[in-house]
Amino acid sequence: MPHILCPGCGHGIVAGALLRAICRLGLDQDTVAVVAGIGCSSRLAGYLDFCTLHATHGRAPAFATGLKLARPDLHVIVITGDGDGLAIGGNHLIHAARRNVDLTCLLFNNEIYGMTGGQLAPTTREGGVATTAPYGNVEPPFDACRLLAAAGATFVARGLAAQPLVLEELIARALAHRGFAFVEVLTDCPEFHGRYNRLGSGAAMLLGQIRATAAVEAHLAPLASTVVHPGLPPVRPPVETGVLVETTRPEFGDRLRAAAARWADAREDHAP
Ligand code: SF4
Repeated sequence: MPHILCPGCGHGIVAGALLRAICRLGLDQDTVAVVAGIGCSSRLAGYLDFCTLHATHGRAPAFATGLKLARPDLHVIVITGDGDGLAIGGNHLIHAARRNVDLTCLLFNNEIYGMTGGQLAPTTREGGVATTAPYGNVEPPFDACRLLAAAGATFVARGLAAQPLVLEELIARALAHRGFAFVEVLTDCPEFHGRYNRLGSGAAMLLGQIRATAAVEAHLAPLASTVVHPGLPPVRPPVETGVLVETTRPEFGDRLRAAAARWADAREDHAP
């Protein structure tokens, strides 16, 4: 199938895992809606045969919230990238989590803005080179899962493009979750992040992800400290993978509809 992705880009692997998870759950095609932002990962919505919406930069969670409120029968999936979701759209993402809107959000983290030419992202590792960080990044990166867990997401997981079957399982669990489900997927950008940081081919970058991660289940391990030594090539800090948070609390749309019903009842009681 013709597509825009560069050779070695991991995004297609993630799209495959999403499609297999949807098939595994037996979701009807007409009940699935995909809302995407802007970026290489968000372009994937254009290749999926569901109800799809390509939103403005960073605003996919806001569009998805409106869609879910209007059509609570739909499974609404948000596709976003680390720049789209954590920088430009950071507020929309954390507030969707805080409200516990019943959405499944896949955040593709390749540590860089790929589509616009390799600029620094809020997830770029310390020391990493980007077009806007030619001397190496001096900012600490966001840990997206910890951020979303702190914001109130009721399901948080991290998977790897390098482990597509595990990723499929994580996405299936997220899709089955009632409430805001967040899956961060570590993927690669060999064209910019890989080339600027001499990380090798796409395959080499994916193997590097496996070496830099540790599997956990249903808890957040203590933060690993990261030391970047001058002169050494930058490495992604060790991170936890698997299901990191799985809990329940009332969903936003349910609460809003219940509040509206109570308000309508109260008005009737006080009618002359
Ligand atoms: S620029 Fe990077 S993220 Fe975008 S398609 Fe190419 S390899 Fe993938």
